[in-house]
Amino acid sequence: MSRPRVIRCAACAGRIKPHHPHIGVEDLETGKEFSYHARPDCQKRCAEETATRLEAGKVYAMHHYHSSTCPDAAPGFGCAGGCFDTPMAVAN
Ligand SMILES: [Zn+2]
Ligand SMILES: [Zn+2]
Repeated sequence: MSRPRVIRCAACAGRIKPHHPHIGVEDLETGKEFSYHARPDCQKRCAEETATRLEAGKVYAMHHYHSSTCPDAAPGFGCAGGCFDTPMAVAN
């Protein structure tokens, strides 16, 4: 039995419920993951902060965690669950 992980948004410091849609930005060097709410203002902050970190030479993997109720088997942007309404530009 693992204790539920408390996730906090790196943009607004609010708590993210694991079954709600959210974004994870994983630092591939350290394995540390920054989490953000799926809502547009937190997504925007996520894009800005990730761009800044990428400029510093970091390598990241983006994870999009969909809602536990999302009906799509392989969900992406524009999924049937509407988890991520605002597609954001991600520099890879
Ligand atoms: Zn947030
Ligand atoms: Zn979804």
